[in-house]
Amino acid sequence: AAARAAALLDGLNGPQRDAVVHAGAPLLVVAGAGSGKTRVLTRRIAWLVGERKAHPGSILAITFTNKAAAEMKERVEELVGRRARIMWVSTFHSSCVRILRKEIERLGFSSSFSIYDAADSQRLMTLVLGDLELDPKRYQPRAVLAWVSNAKNELKDPETARAEASNGVEEAYASAYVEYQRRLRDANALDFDDLIMTTVHLFGAYPEVREVYRRRFRHVLVDEYQDTNHAQYALIHQLCADDPEGARDTGGSGGERVEPSELMVVGDADQSIYAFRGANIRNILDFEQDFPNATTILLEQNYRSTQTILTAANAVIDHNEGRKPKRLWSDAGDGEPIVGYVADDEHDEARFVADEIDKLGDDHGVRPADVAVFYRTNAQSRVFEEIFVRVGMPYKVVGGVRFYERKEVRDALAYLRLLANPADEISLRRIVNTPKRGIGDRAQACVAALAQREGTTYWEALRVAHRADGIATRSLNAIRAFVEVVEELLQMVEADERPDVILEAALDRSGYLTDLEDSDDPQDHTRVENLAELVAVAREFADDPQAGPSADPSDVEAGVVTPGLGDFLERVALVADADQIPDDDGADGVVTLMTLHTAKGLEFPVVFLTGLEDGVFPHMRTLGDRKEIEEERRLAYVGLTRARERLYISRAVVRSAWGAPSHNPASRFLDELPVDLVQWRRTAAAMTSWRRPDLSSSSPAVGGGGAGGGGLGAPTAAGRRNFSAAAARADASAKSKKNRPVPNLDPGDRVVHDAFGMGTVVSVEGAAEKAVASIDFGSQGVKRLLLRYAPVEKL
Ligand code: ATP
Ligand code: MG
Repeated sequence: AAARAAALLDGLNGPQRDAVVHAGAPLLVVAGAGSGKTRVLTRRIAWLVGERKAHPGSILAITFTNKAAAEMKERVEELVGRRARIMWVSTFHSSCVRILRKEIERLGFSSSFSIYDAADSQRLMTLVLGDLELDPKRYQPRAVLAWVSNAKNELKDPETARAEASNGVEEAYASAYVEYQRRLRDANALDFDDLIMTTVHLFGAYPEVREVYRRRFRHVLVDEYQDTNHAQYALIHQLCADDPEGARDTGGSGGERVEPSELMVVGDADQSIYAFRGANIRNILDFEQDFPNATTILLEQNYRSTQTILTAANAVIDHNEGRKPKRLWSDAGDGEPIVGYVADDEHDEARFVADEIDKLGDDHGVRPADVAVFYRTNAQSRVFEEIFVRVGMPYKVVGGVRFYERKEVRDALAYLRLLANPADEISLRRIVNTPKRGIGDRAQACVAALAQREGTTYWEALRVAHRADGIATRSLNAIRAFVEVVEELLQMVEADERPDVILEAALDRSGYLTDLEDSDDPQDHTRVENLAELVAVAREFADDPQAGPSADPSDVEAGVVTPGLGDFLERVALVADADQIPDDDGADGVVTLMTLHTAKGLEFPVVFLTGLEDGVFPHMRTLGDRKEIEEERRLAYVGLTRARERLYISRAVVRSAWGAPSHNPASRFLDELPVDLVQWRRTAAAMTSWRRPDLSSSSPAVGGGGAGGGGLGAPTAAGRRNFSAAAARADASAKSKKNRPVPNLDPGDRVVHDAFGMGTVVSVEGAAEKAVASIDFGSQGVKRLLLRYAPVEKL
């Protein structure tokens, strides 16, 4: 028995052992990255079962992802055997589902309740907003849902939210919340945030139920505690506090008592990276207040990384204000210097990464599975994917849908496919009402019936939709407007316009982009970034059809010089197909590509931290806000501390977004790295480049300092996401074969349009190639037209 106990404590240092064997009072383990928090948590579970004879069913362990839960369970099973299987090791959401399936009938739901995912929730909210007759421009479902989600994370029920609303907008949001909740209940459904809030409410309303679970879970353990939100905190408090009623802001009263369960939470305030989802750093900082007589154990030795990597990470996180300084140390030795690389552009950066992985394999036996590539936003994976496909480097993209499988990318390609082939009904049906433009299912069915009756394609039927039966006038008008847009775009195709220009025009004229840009949902910002990325792909293709992963040498021989839309789609189809290669490639595994957010808790022998540019990382949305920059810095800390042996940092001098190059300055996080730790393979000084103007050459850490300030002139505004500006730039550079002069119009001018007839110019924005005019066509309404393509003539 003694030997078994010793085995469970084997490979742990003093404070780690203390944490594993600790009994009684709530325990907080706070420590920097890689200090063994997760290892301690796992070992403690094994210790509880193996030594303290806790029943596995009395253990509740919470992890941040399902993957982490599976790994932890497996590890405990290795230590104490199969009986570990009945333990609850899961995420907050999964645990709550299990509780609710058993108990929710008390709240009037049936135990077979459905769980609405984001898309379901959005559909429901759209219906609700329609019923409430809220102006869909002002109250977008996604924005309202984000607000509701926040309220739920704060445990605010609809009535409370309504009582607290202090202005008209909030009142509208709150009334939507009330109605949304009512309809969820009618549908016997819960959304994602409800799972936790409902469990907390259930425990609050039925203390006897809460006591059942308090008695059952004698041991509660929570990993990544710094990323819990208020609702999750409240749940832990209900299960473990001496005084379960006394949690911050949860209210409640009475109830019989049992001995509180033993609680252990582990976390690192410096790794809190989910504030945007309601995570509350206070939960870890206030642990000792929330759980009086708590014990705190600090871990200071890092077992993951070399001292060089640690010193670098410590130096960066030190720039955050108001944190408790902690000194992590490692006895793994200094190890290799950090390698820095300043790339010409994002392709050069990806090529550098691919080459380097290859070399590491040859020179040091590094396998693809040992390597991770991190970036700030999902869209950045695309360039890596393309280069990796081209050079045959096996990889997988974690925690994100592959680029060409993303909804917005598929939607955009559906527009292009339709333009290349109007008979492509699948593509047409995909986008005919995307974005929502009032061509509903009913109208679509009527058009389908017409197509069948007249034996034409769906597109042909749309064009003569007035001949269909049963379409409401409103839908008919919507169809007419859509057909006009598509026909205008088809003219561009006929004129052999460049694919990137067509794509931009399609996203713009269809309203697809505006719809995303107007949204308050952070996910939609990501979508806009992905579309910018797709435009960049198209532009590169148009500029250099021989480049890219699937360049066909026969094209070169055939002297193909002007790739059209069809060529582009074919290329994309090939890349997207190559994308489908299986994840696992033999024993050497695959390189892992992931965003920094998904990297939490993981470790890799070799890490590439890419895109270190102000405006990329830190993300441009955060640049103006000290608090948000601090969250980005914590994300940098997470990224740097994932590396065990080798760390690479890189940035690109030029990166395309919206097909237009933007020149981002070096990330401020690079300036925060100690100069002597980084060996720059290639610096900005080697190129004609510019530097962030507020940095003098006194910060050589970015390699080369202020050398070569000339050349490219003033930086493009880092925050640019202005579609029309980008479109204008791309337009201006487009080698259009169509040299139709753009009519020079002024307000008041009379014009004639091929389809709309006579009209009067109301206003003109932009000039020359980018001029957009609003023209009043009388009974046809006022239209906004891109003059370069619109068939208008001045009278
Ligand atoms: P993070 O903050 O990134 O989640 P963590 O504090 O949870 O990190 P772990 O992942 O548990 O750290 O441990 C980091 C690495 O160090 C793992 O590979 C782990 O196996 C190893 N490790 C932890 N403690 C020891 C120890 N006492 N001796 C040897 N290796 C250890
Ligand atoms: Mg961990």
